[in-house]
Amino acid sequence: MKLAIENILESSRFMKFLFDNISSAVFIVDKQMKVKKVNNSYKALFDKEEKEVINQLCGNTIGCAFTVEQGLPCGSTSECENCSIRNCVTNKNFNLEEIHSIYVARTFYINKEPIFKYFRMKIKDMIYNNEEVSIITIDDITELEEQKKQIKEMANLDYLTKLYNRRYFFEIAEKFYENAKRSLVNIAVVTIDIDYFKKINDTYGHEGGDFILVSFADILKNNLRSADILCRYGGEEFCILLVLKDKDDAFHIVEKIRKIVENKRFIYDNNDISITVSAGISLILGDSLNEMIKESDKMLYEAKNAGRNRTLIYNE
Ligand code: GH3
Ligand code: MG
Ligand code: MG
Repeated sequence: MKLAIENILESSRFMKFLFDNISSAVFIVDKQMKVKKVNNSYKALFDKEEKEVINQLCGNTIGCAFTVEQGLPCGSTSECENCSIRNCVTNKNFNLEEIHSIYVARTFYINKEPIFKYFRMKIKDMIYNNEEVSIITIDDITELEEQKKQIKEMANLDYLTKLYNRRYFFEIAEKFYENAKRSLVNIAVVTIDIDYFKKINDTYGHEGGDFILVSFADILKNNLRSADILCRYGGEEFCILLVLKDKDDAFHIVEKIRKIVENKRFIYDNNDISITVSAGISLILGDSLNEMIKESDKMLYEAKNAGRNRTLIYNE
């Protein structure tokens, strides 16, 4: 005797309730990739009416970018042989036991708009009235994936200047340092610090100080190359790992920035603010990245003592 609950699980009313109300998009395709049935969540996800998709090819109904952009039916584009959905459905080893879990991250056209989506999909083969079909569930995890990406990015950035923070700087700069040790690249480490910054805070308030920090960070961003690694090392001190063709370039790059800052008028709250910066550079690889930073910091200290608004270089 079956338990009542088991009867419920097998009943068509229960199945229909699940199919209609589950938040995952569910659809059934035959082995030719033709869509046979879709649920409400599928229609909502792809913004389609049932009559638009029944007996149409899978990729065309879900707005697969390859079919849309190449103007070809699903199965005929240059990318179809690499499509994990197709490969699961048309897999020759028809297996009623197996459930394939796949992760699809690519562009779909929904309501004619291209949109990058992250889908978690499950695909299961079934036989019904001698016809082989696959049932596919889709969970749209785009929002979650984007939040994850954003959190990861935020964890690497200084909240104020949006430059890398010190922790992340070390993470990537170490790799460049290792490559420099193997003579694959030339690098220089620069420590650069705003002169008499405390006075800015005292005169224009902390917000004025923050404005100067952000403006200076923008000058750095705009005047360095994308290969260079730039971080807010702490307070009003910044650290840069320069990737160089020629080691002699380091001094000129830093001096260019120093002069831009010296000549710039920062307008904050109707005040015309001028600042200067001091910098120390280390070209000597030494035993560690930390040692390079320490040497550049020593040169920065000497630049401060020598009267500020200057660049000093540690070159043995
Ligand atoms: P020096 O020329 O020797 O570098 O002098 P300085 O005044 O620039 O250096 P000091 O180390 O004496 O002061 C740095 C100040 O930077 C003190 C601190 O309150 C301020 N500061 C640190 N972080 C921030 C920040 O995020 N925002 C603002 N507005 N100020 C900050
Ligand atoms: Mg300072
Ligand atoms: Mg400082």
